[in-house]
Amino acid sequence: MLKRLLAALSVPLVTPALSVLLVLPALSVLLVVPALAPSPADAAARTTVWHVVAPGETMAGIAAAFRLRVADIGRWNQIVPPYPVHVDETLRLTPPVVQLRDWRTRVEPVTPAMVNWDARKRCPVTPANLRKVWVSYIDLQGAYHDGSIIVRRDLVTRVQSIFLTLFRWRYRIMAMAPMSVNMPGETDMSIVTAGYNCRPVAGTTTWSEHAYGTAIDINPLQNPMIRNGWVSPAAGTAWLNRSRYRIGMIHAEGAARAFASNGYYWGGRWNSLKDYMHFSVTNR
Ligand SMILES: [Zn+2]
Repeated sequence: MLKRLLAALSVPLVTPALSVLLVLPALSVLLVVPALAPSPADAAARTTVWHVVAPGETMAGIAAAFRLRVADIGRWNQIVPPYPVHVDETLRLTPPVVQLRDWRTRVEPVTPAMVNWDARKRCPVTPANLRKVWVSYIDLQGAYHDGSIIVRRDLVTRVQSIFLTLFRWRYRIMAMAPMSVNMPGETDMSIVTAGYNCRPVAGTTTWSEHAYGTAIDINPLQNPMIRNGWVSPAAGTAWLNRSRYRIGMIHAEGAARAFASNGYYWGGRWNSLKDYMHFSVTNR
């Protein structure tokens, strides 16, 4: 990730006007004190390579805040006039190395081997009633991937609609299967955006909605589950401040809307526990 950030930083900064704006504070520092280090504010300006859209923001406002041109941000993010933005969207603030390809999808049957089917577990939905849905997504670094998610077969169209919307909104997803392709070397499966999983609700003998293929978890690390002070995954404690708008987070007025408009309920709205990663058609 650091390497990619550095690569992005080596891209020449946009317009001559912007270069002047960024250089002036540095010059004034040099004139006043004999220090070569740029001010913290200047360093921040140079290292910020993306922006996550918060409520009330517009493309014009974001462009002005970063001293960029609306048309440039639009072009770098492949967003066309009138440049709509959406809460939880991540906008690149530097030119991409490669353009995003068009979103695409396809559907595959699910074989017992694909889900390590074990009849003795008595899972509630058989592989014949599941489908593997392939959808394009954009990862945290802005790279395009084809990822797959397994859901109950009658939900395929809704799931395609959700992921198409998230892609159009330039919402970032950390990783989807196949992990060996999409995030080689990653062994922590608790960070993966996924659907079907024949398992009980943690700490109970009741089947999870994931065992029915009716639930989807999005960016678990950035959207953890909190129950009686217990946070899962544990590393998700860094994302407990839900009033912030950080890359990969889900908010009611943002990414959650893509699910709501397709009949999925959000665990972030629950009161007994909060499951910010979790969407289901049953509201369980
Ligand atoms: Zn879940």
